[in-house]
Amino acid sequence: MSGPADAPGAAGPAAGQRTAAERVVVRVDRDRCIGSGMCALTAPGSLELGADGLARPLRVAATDGGGGEDGDGGGGEDGAPAGAGPGSGEPLTERLAEAVDYCPVEALALYSAGDGRRIAPAR
Ligand code: SF4
Repeated sequence: MSGPADAPGAAGPAAGQRTAAERVVVRVDRDRCIGSGMCALTAPGSLELGADGLARPLRVAATDGGGGEDGDGGGGEDGAPAGAGPGSGEPLTERLAEAVDYCPVEALALYSAGDGRRIAPAR
């Protein structure tokens, strides 16, 4: 009945390129999020529920106050989150990957901080 542990044992986005050192940017689709809080429980260092009851990433790719010194990365194309770029984001952890897998409405996505490609969920 109530079992998030219903998920398949191997929580793997099958992208094949998941490495512990990879830096990622978490994106929350707030139109989809239903505020279940699963992600904040699974990856409390990366996600939290905001005052509006919806999930939000704790680290927002260095957009506040940051200078954006290399005007190289335009960002924004292909649906990549703004602010993604080398050195931004956070390390991809197993918990973060699980949080994405466990979201009941697929409101979470991970993008490479390096090149903006989508890492999970796999399309
Ligand atoms: S698990 Fe999904 S639906 Fe639940 S709070 Fe997180 S993003 Fe929202």
